[in-house]
Amino acid sequence: MENKITVDGLTFVPYITKEEIESQVKRVASELREDLKGGNPLFLCVLTGAFIFAADLIREIGLNDAPISFVRYSSYEGTSSTGEVKQLMGLKEDISGRDVVIIEDIVDTGLTASLMVEDLKKRNPSSIRFATLLHKPQSSKTGFQPDYVAFTIPPKFIIGYGLDLDGKVRNLKDIYVIQEQQEK
Ligand code: 5GP
Repeated sequence: MENKITVDGLTFVPYITKEEIESQVKRVASELREDLKGGNPLFLCVLTGAFIFAADLIREIGLNDAPISFVRYSSYEGTSSTGEVKQLMGLKEDISGRDVVIIEDIVDTGLTASLMVEDLKKRNPSSIRFATLLHKPQSSKTGFQPDYVAFTIPPKFIIGYGLDLDGKVRNLKDIYVIQEQQEK
């Protein structure tokens, strides 16, 4: 693991190692494997940030019959005073009767997560579970509580293992935190 990484003039320092990630992915996977027993699971990976977590998680869960699909949120400034409006894109599958497992990279304000769950509920799944790699509960504006969390972290900007800065550094195997806000 490199000591420091500079991206777009910002310095990041090591925060969560790939070994720690691996062990928490295993824990979340075994919880999900247990909870999905006898169900009809369908995994939904939220693009783009969650693609690496999802790849590791579904292989660790090891359910050969469960399909994985990919969704994305488009966001834009709305015309009303409510500000940002987000819209679910790319979900073509019929999820009715399915035990849906949403796989997300990070829950920050919780706005994306709560919108997504509300949206998916309208499509009559049997159940919806929400798994996230990272959760920043202190940033919550919604009270949204994910069902499965690999790491609970303070409200600091992090990169790596799928999470980007301007489209860069998703490839990093470890997670880094911005230096100016670092406490660990
Ligand atoms: P929320 O709707 O919960 O505020 O936003 C979640 C989204 O914000 C994530 O999917 C991610 O794209 C972005 N995000 C929030 N915190 C971070 C962070 O620390 N690092 C990176 N790279 N993206 C973040």
